[in-house]
Amino acid sequence: MKEKPLDKDKDKDKDKDKGEILMGRPVYFVLDIDRVLIDTERVYRTNRTEIAPYPEDEGALDKLKSLGTLCVFSEVTVNGSREFQELKLERIGINKYVLEDDVHISNDKIAQLSEIFKRYKGGLVFLVDDRIDVLEAAKRIDDQVITVWVQRGMHAEVAMEKPQAFKPDVTVFNLNGLAIMAPGIIAEKTPAPVLK
Ligand SMILES: [Mg+2]
Repeated sequence: MKEKPLDKDKDKDKDKDKGEILMGRPVYFVLDIDRVLIDTERVYRTNRTEIAPYPEDEGALDKLKSLGTLCVFSEVTVNGSREFQELKLERIGINKYVLEDDVHISNDKIAQLSEIFKRYKGGLVFLVDDRIDVLEAAKRIDDQVITVWVQRGMHAEVAMEKPQAFKPDVTVFNLNGLAIMAPGIIAEKTPAPVLK
């Protein structure tokens, strides 16, 4: 068993840990709820009785979690409520993947972006949404963010019908697609530290 450091060495060890975290650059996947984590069309089709992820996303959260910290980012819509957003998260067992402090639900997603970026500052942030207007706003606020467009559901379908000036960094059809692409992007954006 490793001996506990003496008191005088405590601070030295703390600094060492901090340095390692900075060099490794933490990765955050900030995931929208509707049409990203949850098949929202199915929720409405079944009169809110079936609240579930998309079958093609099976295993994706485990894979993403092995690559970084998972966070939730969502908005209460006119016909929705905070409670219903929380119920959706509960149904998919989100607390297995996301800490309560990393769940961000507000009345206005775009207005909340700056606060989110401040919170995860210094990290490599993947912002994952089916709404291209949200991704575009995110890139305007912080051009270092990796915008990931999940191209499914009604908002994406409407956006696909007209030409878009904004090009997201990554476009996928589902979360497993992101889990496949993410390691390459992380490797490119967070080069291994040079050992001297
Ligand atoms: Mg959505």
